[in-house]
Amino acid sequence: MSDVAALARLLAESRRAVVFTGAGISTESGIPDFRSPGGIWTKMAPIDFSDFLASEDARREAWRRKFASDPTIRAARPNRGHRAVAELVRRGLVPAVITQNIDGLHQMSGIPDEKVIELHGNTTYATCLDCRERHELDEIRLAFERDETPPRCRSCGGLVKTATISFGQAMPVEPMRRAEEEALGADLFVVLGSSLVVYPAAGFPALAKRNGARLVIINREPTDFDHIADLVLHSAIGETMGAAVGVD
Ligand SMILES: [Zn+2]
Repeated sequence: MSDVAALARLLAESRRAVVFTGAGISTESGIPDFRSPGGIWTKMAPIDFSDFLASEDARREAWRRKFASDPTIRAARPNRGHRAVAELVRRGLVPAVITQNIDGLHQMSGIPDEKVIELHGNTTYATCLDCRERHELDEIRLAFERDETPPRCRSCGGLVKTATISFGQAMPVEPMRRAEEEALGADLFVVLGSSLVVYPAAGFPALAKRNGARLVIINREPTDFDHIADLVLHSAIGETMGAAVGVD
């Protein structure tokens, strides 16, 4: 059986699947993988959350980097892999997508917000760290470009940060709880473009597998979980998922 046919069959035999996505699905939309060799985090140390809280200079640097990298994220559009996942959600097979990505491309592909579980947050908007009020980036950028003063909350004066989970910042409680629930409720767990090295997120496929789910991993490079998977494909996500789901 071909790889695509094997994947299509696992999908057809599933009653409830969960899709878990990492950087690999977004690189096919032109978004660089920050953690890959040669990626930005191998050249520039990430700003730790404690430094962001403690230092105005660190906050200024964080916002400089954000606006320097932002055009790439803003220009990115969902690819065939995102569309295939959205189709599985539309058909009702996949109740939720768990993602390590912060680019919002699953939502842009048509999956409702409440069905996307973001483990590392979202970089397409900002929130106040004190009152959680949402702040839009366009507004922050205009003010920041004037004198590079890091933004403060219009309501409470608190620190405003992109809605991402930084290094040193606690994993978000509610998304982690929901991801665990979905992993335990699924009979098929599909990993798309994650090397499964960032814990605790990387623990979900093993959790699902221990609970009786079948496990599919589609990733360019081998992962530490390949040996427990029912199907491992080292192929492009858009091409493989698109063909298996029947989406262009
Ligand atoms: Zn606030």
